[in-house]
Amino acid sequence: MSRVLIIGGGAAGMMAGVYAARRGHQTEVLEKNEKLGKKLYITGKGRCNVTNACDTEELFPAVMSNSKFLYSAFYTFGPEHVMDFFEQAGVPLKTERGNRVFPSSDHSSDIIRALERELKKAGARIHLRTEVKAVESDENGVTGVRLADGSFLPGDAVIVACGGLSYPTTGSTGDGYRIAQETGHKVTELKPSLVPLKTKEDYIPLLQGLSLKNTGLTVKSGKKVVYKDFGEMMFTHFGVTGPMILSASAHIGRYLEKGELNAYLDLKPALSAEQLDARVLREFEAGQNKQFKNVIGVLFPSSLTPVMLKLGGIEPEKKIHEISREERLHFEQLIKAFPFTITGMGEFKEAIITRGGVSVKDIQPQTMESRKVKNLYFIGEVLDLDAVTGGFNLQIAWSTAYLAAQAIE
Ligand SMILES: Cc1cc2nc3c(=O)[nH]c(=O)nc-3n(C[C@H](O)[C@H](O)[C@H](O)COP(=O)(O)OP(=O)(O)OC[C@H]3O[C@@H](n4cnc5c(N)ncnc54)[C@H](O)[C@@H]3O)c2cc1C
Repeated sequence: MSRVLIIGGGAAGMMAGVYAARRGHQTEVLEKNEKLGKKLYITGKGRCNVTNACDTEELFPAVMSNSKFLYSAFYTFGPEHVMDFFEQAGVPLKTERGNRVFPSSDHSSDIIRALERELKKAGARIHLRTEVKAVESDENGVTGVRLADGSFLPGDAVIVACGGLSYPTTGSTGDGYRIAQETGHKVTELKPSLVPLKTKEDYIPLLQGLSLKNTGLTVKSGKKVVYKDFGEMMFTHFGVTGPMILSASAHIGRYLEKGELNAYLDLKPALSAEQLDARVLREFEAGQNKQFKNVIGVLFPSSLTPVMLKLGGIEPEKKIHEISREERLHFEQLIKAFPFTITGMGEFKEAIITRGGVSVKDIQPQTMESRKVKNLYFIGEVLDLDAVTGGFNLQIAWSTAYLAAQAIE
């Protein structure tokens, strides 16, 4: 039996704590907040998308960085194990669109309570308001941790589960990266990911609050299409956000570093250019003597009308029968390719995850143990691993946590 010290009582730390304690280790979860799982609480808009019920091999394409490193982790403790774990722990689950798994209650607090219950049941001890400042080691490996109050806690194994840098108000303030560097590990460049995008045009803030459900998005760097998707998005006072935009942010970062990107929204993705023309003609024929501004409102949400009029190149008061074919086709082009310029990404405080982290080259993929310091483990978001939305980031936390807990002797 070992004394296992876990730094961080978030998703990864709690799961590791449960399995380490179930294996009979004296397990101490050290969390600097006044409660466990503060970030888990806000996941999935308070509903917690705990995993993705896809086949294990489908997890890999959802991981943006170092997906191969997760081979053992995903195959040892995959989505079906996560679902089993929570159902056995008394949390019924349901699967929604895109295989996203949520607690049936729609309450993330049920996930946190279940983990806390399992921790206690297995005999783990939880220390709240306990901030770890440093990991200490000698030539044989870790010896323990130094707390913020200066005291030393001895341990046979230490698991770093401090999370990343995103939403720092939840406790993820990057301590794990500092601890990793101080113990001789490489930390790759840290960037916010799954984050809203900033835009240039002054008409975007005018649309603040408008949400579009079935929209196509194309992002171009010069002439090259660098991203294409379909889904839901929202306009904000500084740019765009929503599920489709967050996913785009995970893909376009490296192009954005080279300069601004041109983006286009297809407001009628279900219609071809010809079908849209037929649709617009129907509206035009029905309103021959009406003014342009009074006819187009049926084609898209009414709050878009002022901006569409501004960009459309047709006098708002012009009578429908006076509009030329060229003018009509030009307006239809605007509907199929509503333009805006992406100038930058949002910041850490509004990012779902951190890209970059403890280099996976310094970590053994079968155990999550450091290659530099014996009995020191890194799990969850602190590692240089990140995935798209859909429950994949929590799956990374659960899978890596399980491996570390199983590996400790
Ligand atoms: C708004 C939002 C919504 C999200 N929704 C989803 C979703 O629905 N599905 C999904 O898969 N992913 C989602 N994510 C991502 C997911 O929350 C993270 O990937 C996951 O929480 C990472 O788990 P972790 O245990 O590594 O880190 P965290 O959950 O961040 O936990 C780290 C813990 O360590 C503690 N800590 C840090 N430093 C110290 C220290 N020095 N001493 C003691 N304790 C310390 C922190 O207080 C914190 O409690 C979302 C993220 C955000 C921000």
